[in-house]
Amino acid sequence: MRLAAVDGRSCLVVAGGVVDLASHGFPDEPMACLARWGELAAWAAATEPAATAPLVEARLTCPVPRPTQVFAIGLNYRAHAEETGAEVPSVPLTFTKFPSCLAGPRDDIPLVPGSVDWEVELVLVVGAGCTVGQDVSERQLQRAGRPPQFSLAKSHRGFGPIGPWVTDEADPRDLAISCALNGEVVQASRTSDMVFGPDELLAHLGGVCDLRPGDLVFTGTPSGVGMGRTPPRWLQPGDVLVSTIEHIGTMVNRCR
Ligand code: ZN
Repeated sequence: MRLAAVDGRSCLVVAGGVVDLASHGFPDEPMACLARWGELAAWAAATEPAATAPLVEARLTCPVPRPTQVFAIGLNYRAHAEETGAEVPSVPLTFTKFPSCLAGPRDDIPLVPGSVDWEVELVLVVGAGCTVGQDVSERQLQRAGRPPQFSLAKSHRGFGPIGPWVTDEADPRDLAISCALNGEVVQASRTSDMVFGPDELLAHLGGVCDLRPGDLVFTGTPSGVGMGRTPPRWLQPGDVLVSTIEHIGTMVNRCR
């Protein structure tokens, strides 16, 4: 099943288009549908609802707009830890992207002064499945101070695009993941290269925090970020990021 938000309303993505869920008695608010994922999946399998409108990708909005918690994991691919000069963590390096930074799969990324970088990531959606995300990061604030802190520099407005939809059709443990910048592939890996895999991360986080339906886990980025290049490369106005995970989908975000 693929659950999307079209102009903010809950929709299923099916062959030939989308199904508006409010017209079938489900909530039009995406978070309320995510909380009823099992019921919704059973209904969709039993009734196979027909598309009521074409899929217009430009109208897709954030599929998980108001999670109670957004976890993010740093340095979770060995090659990425190496390119940043950091040791591979012995426990998941956990921070948050404050939920107000979340955005949709076609939204622009509003650049801020400093050094803004890309990080394609698999994002787990508690109780539902997974989606694609960009953990957009401003490296100057991220690396200011000792010890450095991650959360604020990764939570500027619009720094957390996710989408294009939430799906349970992909096995998150081994998926091809990539990011292209203006058509050039800058990141390409598999989620099986994670230091701590999806099951381990959920067990670790759930051992501390009460995980709720729709909570998000950004699972870390593969190598190939701008910070790891010589010279470093930062996002510029007009740049287009295309973020893809197989069996999930693709996001297209333009920087401005
Ligand atoms: Zn990240």
